[in-house]
Amino acid sequence: MTRSCARPGCGQPACATLGYDYANRTVELDPLADEAHPAYYDVCRRHADSLVVPRGWRLLDRRRGAAALAGHLTAS
Ligand SMILES: [Zn+2]
Repeated sequence: MTRSCARPGCGQPACATLGYDYANRTVELDPLADEAHPAYYDVCRRHADSLVVPRGWRLLDRRRGAAALAGHLTAS
């Protein structure tokens, strides 16, 4: 089962899960979660790569390694 990017008008297959940690002012970018989570957004690779974090926040990109491999190995 494939989920779609949450960005309006996009519709590309999601490849990453995006979460906002308000307490730590951190935007977390993880490999796509197995199950949809109400507090997280699924985004496609393009939107994950073009992500802009709010001023004063930092981006924690945890896709490295696992996501790069998954991108080559999964066709679903
Ligand atoms: Zn997208």
